[in-house]
Amino acid sequence: MKIVLLEYPRNPEKICAVAALTSMKEGAPSEMIKEIDPENAKKRIQRVVGYGHYSVIEHASFTFSIEGISRACSHQLVRHRIASFTQQSQRYVKMDEVPFVIPPSIRKNKEAEEIFNENMKNIAAIYKKLLELGITPEDARFILPNATKTNLVMTMNARELLHFFNLRCCNRAQWEIRDMAWEMLYQVLDVSPAIFETSGPKCISEGICTEGKSSCGCYKLYDGKSIEERRTIAKEFYK
Ligand SMILES: Cc1cc2nc3c(=O)[nH]c(=O)nc-3n(C[C@H](O)[C@H](O)[C@H](O)COP(=O)(O)OP(=O)(O)OC[C@H]3O[C@@H](n4cnc5c(N)ncnc54)[C@H](O)[C@@H]3O)c2cc1C
Repeated sequence: MKIVLLEYPRNPEKICAVAALTSMKEGAPSEMIKEIDPENAKKRIQRVVGYGHYSVIEHASFTFSIEGISRACSHQLVRHRIASFTQQSQRYVKMDEVPFVIPPSIRKNKEAEEIFNENMKNIAAIYKKLLELGITPEDARFILPNATKTNLVMTMNARELLHFFNLRCCNRAQWEIRDMAWEMLYQVLDVSPAIFETSGPKCISEGICTEGKSSCGCYKLYDGKSIEERRTIAKEFYK
């Protein structure tokens, strides 16, 4: 999988800070933006987000190129409705090969990997044969499995990203979307530390685990750790 942050606002924190300021101050946002420096922006964002006034961070959107994930993963991803998606079409794109994702558990088991690869080879051959028989790609694709690789462009605003990280960086999420979510988190944290400074699964961002008996329990190792160390603990917990 490859995740590339393609585009984001020139200054995501300034744009959110001016939105926060607009709600509380008389005057024109176009003038207020001139007063805001990075430190000031950070404080304003922390204050309003602390109040639960999350709508101000909807003004910053982030566009990712998501490459080589499985269709099993993309199906979970597109369940997040407050986002925009464009996915490679299996109707229009005729695949010469059928690229696929092998789950680590299968890769680690030699016999399972052989069975998996053999079946994928057969499926690819059948797909190709169907195309040769004049079947359209939109119908030939019915033979393709969840493991088939796909590419998407996805845009999410910062508020939805925080929610997405809560759910999908959590160890209860499936490994592939979890790996993807962590990669996205580190990329947006890099360009917008004030907005994403406490982001992560709920046990990090909110200091609570809501998974009950299904909890992985990683939060039990958080005592005395910085947020960055907590992220590493959560991310590496199963590895
Ligand atoms: C560990 C895990 C296991 C899962 N297992 C399953 C499963 O077995 N089966 C399954 O079908 N799905 C499953 N899901 C998917 C899950 O049910 C959600 O569809 C997915 O996580 C999208 O999250 P969401 O609905 O909170 O928010 P998003 O679509 O990301 O929306 C963000 C928020 O906007 C608000 N919102 C959006 N749309 C509406 C609306 N129409 N009405 C009211 N409020 C709205 C809600 O507050 C929502 O939380 C699973 C998810 C996880 C993380």
